[in-house]
Amino acid sequence: MKGGYTGKILRVNLSTKEITTEDLTEKMAKFHIGARGLATRIAYDEIPCDADPSGPENKIIMATGPLSGTRVIASGKTTFVGKSPQTNGYGSSNVGGHLAEELKFAGYDAVVVEGASKKLCYLYIEDDKVEIRDAKDYKGAGCISGERKMKDDLGDDVQIAIVGPAAENSVAYSCISHDFGRQAGRAGLGTIMGNKNLKAIAIKGSKGIEVHDKKRLDKIVRQMFKDAKEHPDFKAWQLYGTTNLVSYSNHNLKSLPTRNFQSGHFENGDNIRAEVMRRKIVRHDKACGVCPMACGKYSYSKSHNICVEGPEYETIGMLGSNLGIDNIEDIAYLNYVTDELGLDTISAGNVIGHLIEAYKEGKVTDKEIGKDMKGLDWGKTKEVELLLNKIAHKRGIGKLLAKGVKRVSEVLGTQEYAMHVKGVEISAYESRRRPANKLAYGTASIGGHHNDAWAIVFDAQGGKDKAEKVIELQHLRPGFDDLGVCRLPWVELGIKPELYKDALNALTGWSMTMDEMFEIFERNANLRRAFWGKHVPGFSRNYDNVPKRWYEEEVGDKKPEEDLVTKKEYDKLLTKYYRLRGWNIHSGLPTYKKLRELGLGFVIKDLKKSREKD
Ligand code: SF4
Repeated sequence: MKGGYTGKILRVNLSTKEITTEDLTEKMAKFHIGARGLATRIAYDEIPCDADPSGPENKIIMATGPLSGTRVIASGKTTFVGKSPQTNGYGSSNVGGHLAEELKFAGYDAVVVEGASKKLCYLYIEDDKVEIRDAKDYKGAGCISGERKMKDDLGDDVQIAIVGPAAENSVAYSCISHDFGRQAGRAGLGTIMGNKNLKAIAIKGSKGIEVHDKKRLDKIVRQMFKDAKEHPDFKAWQLYGTTNLVSYSNHNLKSLPTRNFQSGHFENGDNIRAEVMRRKIVRHDKACGVCPMACGKYSYSKSHNICVEGPEYETIGMLGSNLGIDNIEDIAYLNYVTDELGLDTISAGNVIGHLIEAYKEGKVTDKEIGKDMKGLDWGKTKEVELLLNKIAHKRGIGKLLAKGVKRVSEVLGTQEYAMHVKGVEISAYESRRRPANKLAYGTASIGGHHNDAWAIVFDAQGGKDKAEKVIELQHLRPGFDDLGVCRLPWVELGIKPELYKDALNALTGWSMTMDEMFEIFERNANLRRAFWGKHVPGFSRNYDNVPKRWYEEEVGDKKPEEDLVTKKEYDKLLTKYYRLRGWNIHSGLPTYKKLRELGLGFVIKDLKKSREKD
C-alpha cells in the first residue's frame, strides 16, 4: 500500500503465548476502510457464533484507521470490537487520546487478542518487540493510578490502554481507559480484557506513517484547521467541550436524564451547567492527538481533593441529574471514583438510578440493599460512591448490579423502567417524545447508545424524514470511526466530509468518490447487523425495542405540540426504516439480496445456520 496504512496486523494468543503478524491487504482495506470497519470484519470472521463472551473464544480487536496518527484534524481515535458480555451481540467502543498514533508508529494497523492468560498479564509492544508480561504488580490497580504506575515503570512516552478492578472482577460494563481519563466505555469491552486476564496494552512506536501525496495532504489539513477555527462555535467548544450541551439539553430539548429518566428536565440543572463547572472546577483543557477543539476539561475538586478529566456531558447527565445530584464538585468526584474503578460512567449511573427508583418503589428491601444503604434516595453522593465500590468489587447488592440494568430488572421485576436497549444501558438523552432519536437508540448497533446516530436536535427542529435521517447518520457517524478520526469537528464545526475523503485519497493514492465511501459505510453497517444475526439465534425486530417508559409514561414538562411517541407509531417508523435499508421487516436482518449487493454474500450461510436454531 502506498500510504495511510502500515499494512500489518498483530495477533497475540494469550493461551498459547503465540505472537504473529499478518498482512493487511489493500483489497481488505478498500473493502472496510479500517478501524471500526476492519475490526468488525475480523470479529465477524473469527469469533465463533457460540463463543461465550466471557470465555477465551471471544476476541478483542483494537484497530486504527488510515487517517489515525496523521496530521488530519482530530485523528487520534482507536476502536475496540468484540462480542459484548452485556448482550452476546456486537460490541464496539472507541477512545481518543494518543493510542492510535502510537500503534501506527509501532507498525500495526490493528491488534487481535485471542485466548486467555492463566495469570494477570499485560501486552508490551515496542515496534517489532512484542511481549506478554506478568502484571502482578498492577493487580487491583485503578485505571488512573495503574496507568501512572505503568508509565513510571515503562516511561512517559509509552501509551497505555488499561482496565481497572471492575474488569478484573468481570463486571459486565467495565471500560478500557487511556490517557488518565478517556475511555472506550460502552458495551463491556473492558470486561473482555478482564476475562482474558489482560490488564493493559502498552505501546511505544518509533516508525512513521507513509503519505502518498504530502503536498495535497498539507493543503487539505490546512483547510480543515482554517474551517474549524473560523467556525463561530469554535471558542465555546474550547471553553466548555460537551458540557455546553447541559443547559440546552435541560431547558430546550428537555432531554437531560433526570431520576432514572423519569423526566428530561432537572430543576437544579443550572447548578451543573457548563459555565458553573468552568468557573468552579476546570483547571485546564485537554485534547486528543491533533485536535484544536480540546474538548477535554481537566478539573480539580477542592472539597474532595481530586483531579479528574471531566465530567463531560454524559457523565454530568448519568452521575448527576439522573441520580438527582446537583453539585458539580460531587459529580466530578463520582466521575473520578468511577474512572478509577474502571466502570462505564453511563451504565453505572443508569444502573444506580434504576436501583434508587426500585428501592423507593419498595421493590428492594432494606435487607437486600444492605444496612449502609438504608434510606437510599436521590441526591446522595456518599451512597452512590459506596454503590460504585460495591459494584466494582461485587460486594453485597453490587453483585447483582454488576450484571447490568437488564438483568437487575429481571430479578426485581422492574422491567418497565429498565432503561436499556438490547442489554446496554441508554446514554444521557431522555427521548420519549423524539421519534428519530428513539429509532436511533432502538437500532443502534451495540444497544442503547447514541454513537451511531444522534437525531435529537433533528427531532426538536421538526425534521420530517426520520427513518432516512437515522440511516444517513448510522452510515456517516460510524464512518468517522472507520477512518480513525473523531466525528466532532464535523458534527459541531461543520468540517465537510469531502475533506476526509480527499485526505484518504492523498494518504493512500486512491481515487475514492463520496458514493464509494458511503457504500463502504453501508457495508460496514450491514456487517454490524449481521453479527447479531450470526450470534443471537431468534434475533428479531423485538430486539429493536426501546423501554416501556418511553412509550407509555408521560411527564409534566411536555410542550403541547410534542406528544409521546406510542408503540404503534414507533413500530410503523421501524418498518419504514427496515424497508429503506433492505432488511427483513420481521427478523430485522439484512435480506440476502441486500447482502449480495454490498459484497457480503459470505454472511448468508451464517444467517441461515442461525435461523435453523430458531
Ligand atoms: Fe478528542 Fe474532543 Fe478533539 Fe474529539 S473533539 S478529538 S474527543 S479533544
